[in-house]
Amino acid sequence: MNETSGPQDATDFTATGGCICGQVRFGLIGPVPKVGFCHCSQCRKASGTGSNAVMSIRAEWLVWLSGEDARGGYSLPSGWSTSFCERCGCPTPHQGPTGRYFVPAGSLDGDPGVGVSGHIWVGSKPSWAVIGDDAPQFDEGPPGR
Ligand SMILES: [Zn+2]
Ligand SMILES: [Zn+2]
Repeated sequence: MNETSGPQDATDFTATGGCICGQVRFGLIGPVPKVGFCHCSQCRKASGTGSNAVMSIRAEWLVWLSGEDARGGYSLPSGWSTSFCERCGCPTPHQGPTGRYFVPAGSLDGDPGVGVSGHIWVGSKPSWAVIGDDAPQFDEGPPGR
């Protein structure tokens, strides 16, 4: 696997992304979904801000270009988990309990032009984090779970 940073052929991808140092790179195939925000205390701490912002991607629609094994990770018994570039610390895509990838929306290279799907754990949101869209909001976890 090519572990160096550099230009990648993005022709076949609907979006590409990666970390700041360039060690971790990935591409997405298929439609880029809307962005979901989680305001729970774990996601706040992992992101360092009022929420995280992720896109839920089918596992077969994420293609690692480099650095899949250069990620650190941490998980809790609840099933919450995160992963990050071992060198620069940026959050990177990681697989949730269902096998789907959670892709940090801010890790994409460009603007995929998608909207917001919703906000969960809004009850844990600090007052300084202001929601500026009209997507659905839930005080706790996603409905139906
Ligand atoms: Zn990095
Ligand atoms: Zn969360």
